[in-house]
Amino acid sequence: MSYCGRCGRELTDGSHEDCRRALELEPPRYCASCRRRMIVQVHPMGWSARCSVHGNLTAS
Ligand SMILES: [Zn+2]
Ligand SMILES: [Zn+2]
Repeated sequence: MSYCGRCGRELTDGSHEDCRRALELEPPRYCASCRRRMIVQVHPMGWSARCSVHGNLTAS
């Protein structure tokens, strides 16, 4: 099961075109694996988002 990082709904639930576009510019709010709220930190080099269960996700 995979969740949208922006709106937190299941990826199979409707269209996430807008979400995908937004996520190119902003960090995800929700973990894609468990839908927990991510702890997001924005810094000059980009951002990092952390799930308390799944760990860090960093902008590439
Ligand atoms: Zn979405
Ligand atoms: Zn997670």
